Amino acid sequence: MREYDVIVIGGGSAGLAAALEINKHRKSKILVLERDAELGGILQQCIHNGFGLKVFKEELTGPEYAERFINELNESGIEYKLSSMVTRMHPDKRVEYASAEEGFVTIKAKAIVLTMGCYERSAGAISLPGKRPSGIMTAGAAQKYLNIDGYLVGKNVFILGSGDIGLIMARRMKLEGANVIGVAEILPFSGGLKRNIVQCLDDYDIPLYLSHTVTEIIGENRIEKIILSEVDNFVPIKGTEKEFEIDTLLLSVGLIPENGISEACGIKIDSKTKGPIVNESYQTNIDGIFACGNVLHVHDLVDFVTEESRKAGQAVVKYLDQTLDQSENYITLHPGEGVSYIVPQRINRNNLTKNIELFLRVTGEFKDVKFVIKSANKTIKTFKKKHLAPAEMEKVKLKIEDFENIDSDIILSVEVL
Ligand SMILES: Cc1cc2nc3c(=O)[nH]c(=O)nc-3n(C[C@H](O)[C@H](O)[C@H](O)COP(=O)(O)OP(=O)(O)OC[C@H]3O[C@@H](n4cnc5c(N)ncnc54)[C@H](O)[C@@H]3O)c2cc1C
Repeated sequence: MREYDVIVIGGGSAGLAAALEINKHRKSKILVLERDAELGGILQQCIHNGFGLKVFKEELTGPEYAERFINELNESGIEYKLSSMVTRMHPDKRVEYASAEEGFVTIKAKAIVLTMGCYERSAGAISLPGKRPSGIMTAGAAQKYLNIDGYLVGKNVFILGSGDIGLIMARRMKLEGANVIGVAEILPFSGGLKRNIVQCLDDYDIPLYLSHTVTEIIGENRIEKIILSEVDNFVPIKGTEKEFEIDTLLLSVGLIPENGISEACGIKIDSKTKGPIVNESYQTNIDGIFACGNVLHVHDLVDFVTEESRKAGQAVVKYLDQTLDQSENYITLHPGEGVSYIVPQRINRNNLTKNIELFLRVTGEFKDVKFVIKSANKTIKTFKKKHLAPAEMEKVKLKIEDFENIDSDIILSVEVL
């Protein structure tokens, strides 16, 4: 059986950044396995700009951002395999993959980094009422058809869900000549970044229907119409129905971290993030298996993915050098009022060598509030926040000194000022 120091599963921005970081700090035998025919992951279909302001201090397109990492990988000599899909992994760090070239292969590593990204929720997942004609697809699928294969999937388009992919596709379809009739969002606020609402909808006069959802799909072979209704707390309000003639309905209703193989291996999953529960070193509950990027929690910006994956890579180096403490000296972080999740979910005090960053999302829109961090009912730290929204990932920094006052679990909540 072929053996490696590290196997990285997924060759998107997280996988590339983690592999390069490990290679930078330690001479190791690394293998990146990517199921697609090219490296770069989701970035390859995101041809708009807006990537890399933090990491490269430049505004790049997705493929340009990916290219920088792919070039570096090629120069580094790190081994990678394309069209190679991992089908299973085991707690002893055996990894099984299938590739057209090699067939079914089992290999082994000392450490594994999970960087499989995420997938889009589909029509089946949101129980759309009405018929099932063609012309209904996820916004990401439409993006791939348009930006990679060169097909415009429809002429009269409506978008359900105001996630970033939907917003970006509203602008993209409009620029390619489609009539983008509107975007509907069941929640009273958008699921996308503010800048995308302005640059992708407002600038093109595309209406955004908040607190609205599709209550009927009409059409035999191809979708012909939708009925859109206003909702009150997710329940459609009678008499508010509007009819739109369309030939395409794009869904941008959420991304789910891709953790089928993680769960089958016994990795514990956070019910909110749908990603693995990790510690301060991005290590899962299974010794030597790490996770970062969108497979861990859905990120807004690729730069955050890169930064997180570099940190995970540094932790993998420590693990290989046997300097990562594996004892169970844990502080658990709990999301309190107004907070939907926190990553990492637990912190091993023995591994705290520098300040720690917590990533979190809030449950609703808030103005003039503060994050309050408490341990055993004692306030450890507060951070004032002018505006918070679920679409925007928040970052909170804790210094090592802060942990001197912490001797039990931490609760992080949103409180009014
Ligand atoms: C439409 C869209 C627009 C965006 N716009 C911006 C923007 O303007 N600015 C910005 O900064 N960020 C943006 N982002 C966010 C950013 O691009 C992503 O957060 C980031 O690229 C995710 O990287 P990743 O490596 O975690 O996941 P991915 O890029 O999804 O990579 C995961 C890789 O793993 C592979 N894989 C999965 N399962 C397996 C398996 N079993 N075996 C082998 N390989 C596997 C996949 O094929 C994929 O290549 C956008 C994201 C999307 C989707």
